[in-house]
Amino acid sequence: MRALVFDGEVRVCDTPMPRPAPGEALIKVLSAGICRTDIELTRGYMNFRGILGHEFTGIVEQAPNTNLVGKRVVGEINCVCHTCHYCLLEMPHHCLNRTVLGIHNRPGVFAEYATLPEENLHLAPGTVRDDVLVFAEPAAAAFRIPEQVPIHPTDRVVVLGDGKLGQLVAQVLWLHTKNLVCVGKHEWKLALLRKLGIGIAHANDPIEHGADIVVEATGSHEGLARALELVRPEGVVILKTTTTHPTALELSRPVINEVTIIGSRCGPFRPALEALSMGTVEVRPMISETYELRDGEHAFRRAQSSEVIKVVLHI
Ligand SMILES: [Zn+2]
Ligand SMILES: [Zn+2]
Repeated sequence: MRALVFDGEVRVCDTPMPRPAPGEALIKVLSAGICRTDIELTRGYMNFRGILGHEFTGIVEQAPNTNLVGKRVVGEINCVCHTCHYCLLEMPHHCLNRTVLGIHNRPGVFAEYATLPEENLHLAPGTVRDDVLVFAEPAAAAFRIPEQVPIHPTDRVVVLGDGKLGQLVAQVLWLHTKNLVCVGKHEWKLALLRKLGIGIAHANDPIEHGADIVVEATGSHEGLARALELVRPEGVVILKTTTTHPTALELSRPVINEVTIIGSRCGPFRPALEALSMGTVEVRPMISETYELRDGEHAFRRAQSSEVIKVVLHI
């Protein structure tokens, strides 16, 4: 089958068909989204080699549960053991033996076919487009934040970053508080949020300090320092950026200000799918360009440009 592979270089090539392990489904991929994490993987993050991609919509071709065959699905990316310490503590995202779709020890979805444990799959809501559903995984990551921190309608929230994840986070937290501003560097990206009625500010604008919650989703190692500057004493900073770049920070300030810093990764699919099907999270304007898998190398280059938000592959 054809796949977009990283083996030191990003390239389209022919690879063997994946074979589902016991409990796994074979999925024919329909659409897949290129994510910031994919780009970081090609810069050395996780020492990854293999088929990239973890955001997808597909059709089940083969599964232990035959009711799933022929169904359109999306899938959670962490494949877990159910027996380790963290699995038994019901923290399966932190499974010690996990593989992660297209990120850690498991081939990804920039390919004609992929495999995932059946238990990872969610049926796709009928009326939602394939390319919209590739946002299920990153939208779920945005919905992780209100799971970790209660957000009250009176809370003042600052979201740093107007890229793929910043936009989703801003939209999801906007459902909780209207006292929110998303800070970015790109006028046209911020304009998409403004159209939805969401507060925006340019990175060079003065931004009022003392926010209750600051979400760092810049995709850059410099975002955390800015977040620590903006948060109030005893406020919360949520970190969404994963990068290969090490950070050296002056950390006395958060100590003195007793700031809570929370790392935040994968989240719940159910509210994400609901928001995508209800349109309470609107992702269509974020799809900047769409390519066929055979043009994957070009698509991957384009995904690294600041001229795009989301690049989608049709498989
Ligand atoms: Zn992603
Ligand atoms: Zn486990």
